[in-house]
Amino acid sequence: MSLPVLHEMIRTCQLCPLGKTRILAVPGEGPARPRVMLIGEAPGRNEDESGRPFFGAAGKRLDALLENAGLNRNDVFITSVVKCRPPNNRVPTLEEATTCKTHYLEKQILLLQPVLIGLMGRTAIQHVLGEPIDLTRMHGQKIERKGQTYVILYHPAAMIYNQSLKPIMEADFKTLAAL
Ligand code: URA
Repeated sequence: MSLPVLHEMIRTCQLCPLGKTRILAVPGEGPARPRVMLIGEAPGRNEDESGRPFFGAAGKRLDALLENAGLNRNDVFITSVVKCRPPNNRVPTLEEATTCKTHYLEKQILLLQPVLIGLMGRTAIQHVLGEPIDLTRMHGQKIERKGQTYVILYHPAAMIYNQSLKPIMEADFKTLAAL
């Protein structure tokens, strides 16, 4: 299956209850053979309305972190574990995340073959790695699982609520760029 076909399946998906409440599904965006893939949690309001990943407040922080690290949004493939907005931006349920991951995210990773995957925040870490990771201790670190390299990152929205994370997250994105 090609990436455009997979993304069309995502846009019309009704495999979980989020299909009924979303406006637009958000498959993700970026080059077909990216070196870096970034995975967040789920679309928010701006993403739900535009169909584009990280298009609101968290997206502004992400763009700034990428630029600060010498990377450009167009160089990386950006997506989330769950492709449809959960009502009121609640955390996706296990059923929603598992369904979306097995049908879509895992296929995207196989098609894109990124050298490096940046896992942004607890939801991405929990569902992609399937193991508990202490984010406060592990952020900025590279780990290998089943032949794939991951970098553990805070979610860009964390910076909005906790300003003191900004220099830490800037350093972590520089680590990602260096790798
Ligand atoms: N947060 C995410 O995790 N993903 C988006 O696309 C937007 C905000």
